[in-house]
Amino acid sequence: KVWHVETDCLFCKIVAKEIPATIVYETERTLAFRDINPQAPTHVLVIPKGHYRDAAALAAADDGLADEVIKTAHAVAVQEGVHESGYRLVFNTGPGAGQTVFHVHAHVLGGRDLGWPPG
Ligand code: 5GP
Ligand code: ZN
Repeated sequence: KVWHVETDCLFCKIVAKEIPATIVYETERTLAFRDINPQAPTHVLVIPKGHYRDAAALAAADDGLADEVIKTAHAVAVQEGVHESGYRLVFNTGPGAGQTVFHVHAHVLGGRDLGWPPG
């Protein structure tokens, strides 16, 4: 593997196929799979295959990977048919914002009316 793998990281294990997931889209450096506890008709998680703990660490990598994650998220929205009705991209960053898995992931949410503010 060319990317960094963190021992005992749930999403690194999904990348390694050690834990099953419903993969819906993949690029060389990113992976998209359905959330196990969906909060909307479309609820997909997009991750870099390499381990970064949060969005700040991903942005600091400064190698185009954050771009690729966002492009993959949009491709997922198109594939899921939610790009025209509207969809939401969320990076929960830090425990105070509800981040529970510390391998950065963008939530792609769509397929229903999404309230704002999110609460
Ligand atoms: P966070 O709260 O960190 O922003 O989001 C973590 C997300 O990961 C949650 O929406 C949760 O449902 C999802 N999740 C947790 N464990 C698993 C798993 O084993 N498989 C999948 N596909 N999603 C998971
Ligand atoms: Zn990881």
